[in-house]
Amino acid sequence: MSYQSLETSSHQAREFPSLSTSVSLADKNWFKTGGPALFFAEPTSEIEFQQVLFYARTVNMPFYVLGEGANILVSDEGFKGLVIRPQLKKIKRLSYSDTHDLVQADAGVRFADLIVWCLENNLIGLEEFSGIPGTVGGSVFINIHYYEFLLSHFLVSAHVIDKRDGTVHAVDESWFNFGYNYSTLHENNFYLVNATFKVKKADTPTTFHAQGRSEEMIRHRYKRYPHAFTCGSFFRNFYPQEVAHLDKKLIYVAYYLDKSGIKGELSVGGAHVSYQHANMIVNDGTATTTDIITLARTMQELIREKFDILPQPECRLVGFEHYPLLI
Ligand SMILES: Cc1cc2nc3c(=O)[nH]c(=O)nc-3n(C[C@H](O)[C@H](O)[C@H](O)COP(=O)(O)OP(=O)(O)OC[C@H]3O[C@@H](n4cnc5c(N)ncnc54)[C@H](O)[C@@H]3O)c2cc1C
Repeated sequence: MSYQSLETSSHQAREFPSLSTSVSLADKNWFKTGGPALFFAEPTSEIEFQQVLFYARTVNMPFYVLGEGANILVSDEGFKGLVIRPQLKKIKRLSYSDTHDLVQADAGVRFADLIVWCLENNLIGLEEFSGIPGTVGGSVFINIHYYEFLLSHFLVSAHVIDKRDGTVHAVDESWFNFGYNYSTLHENNFYLVNATFKVKKADTPTTFHAQGRSEEMIRHRYKRYPHAFTCGSFFRNFYPQEVAHLDKKLIYVAYYLDKSGIKGELSVGGAHVSYQHANMIVNDGTATTTDIITLARTMQELIREKFDILPQPECRLVGFEHYPLLI
């Protein structure tokens, strides 16, 4: 259904889901910082998701689609528009072949819950992403990755809403143009409604083994990395062309940050470079977003001075009037 049909259809379709005003975002993101959203909506169905986008378009209001907030940094001023946090939560299984089945999960499903659901249904594969926080929507947006696994290896199709006319399209994997930390969703014209993943059917002993591996991965991650009050890796790795002039053409931003000796050493206010990982910034509970930005700029300056390369964030910046980092 398009906006046009919403405009001309029954009053029910034209009803806007209720919007809350001045809603805290600090408790809806993993850094636990930032100001409020002027308006906030949690659509629970595809039609409500359309309605709320239709409303934003009708009143010409800027909007932002939020997942679990595991990869964002919200400005201290908050977001002067409508924050939409989809609460579409269905998961369903579709048969595919003798060896594999398909699992369709809505954008608002927590990825951790999807992994558990798959294991409970003797379906394996997605546990390779155990311990990575986020919803299906946010995970497809960035094409989550862990070691050699990319989410795009599993995704076969999806439904997306076009913000321009409200139509919902069925698309396949190639539509996303997936890359490292990239999907077509970055262009902000389409929003994920649901995604379908191809997973392997397994017998009970194999599933137990996958479950054990999943638990081990979570334990391992908890030991190695901070797992709260952070957005994970703050800066993205470099593209090969950005490091082409260096002796060591390493793309890993953590290598350069580590070499700068900042791990566990550099802080601004309540924001600290983690002692466990040089590319992770952690809020000690007292940081403001301004502290985090000032720290990130200092990290950029250090890397630029020492290596003549400028890291840029993987973390998405929300509600800033001007780009707050160095370019
Ligand atoms: C402790 C920690 C560890 C992490 N480790 C990893 C890791 O190993 N590998 C990895 O890849 N990532 C990692 N991350 C990053 C993070 O987990 C992923 O980016 C995650 O999938 C974000 O999902 P989210 O729902 O929280 O998205 P959010 O942070 O809420 O949003 C991120 C982006 O997704 C967009 N988005 C959200 N929902 C939709 C939708 N329905 N349609 C279109 N766009 C949408 C938002 O607009 C935003 O631009 C880590 C983060 C943390 C905090």
